Amino acid sequence: MKWEKLPNGKWKPLKEFKRNSDGKFNPADPVYKARAKIKMQKVILNCEICGDSTLYEPCVHHLGDGYANDMKKKAYKKMRTESKSIAESKY
Ligand SMILES: [Zn+2]
Repeated sequence: MKWEKLPNGKWKPLKEFKRNSDGKFNPADPVYKARAKIKMQKVILNCEICGDSTLYEPCVHHLGDGYANDMKKKAYKKMRTESKSIAESKY
């Protein structure tokens, strides 16, 4: 076990990410999740349409890849298409 020295001179066990057997970090690890969240909240994305958002909660234009994000993108596209057709039907 590795130890970490605190500013008050005490030592505490160093929390390390648990790696999967293939050597990759486990994204389900709560320690990993918490650190990733803090990191992502510090990354500001600037969107021309929505303004600023963070990487942790990006706007629909800045979503990365992934199943959950794909669903959001599809829902957004659908919403836009529908609102467009509503607007067009007025004429
Ligand atoms: Zn946006």
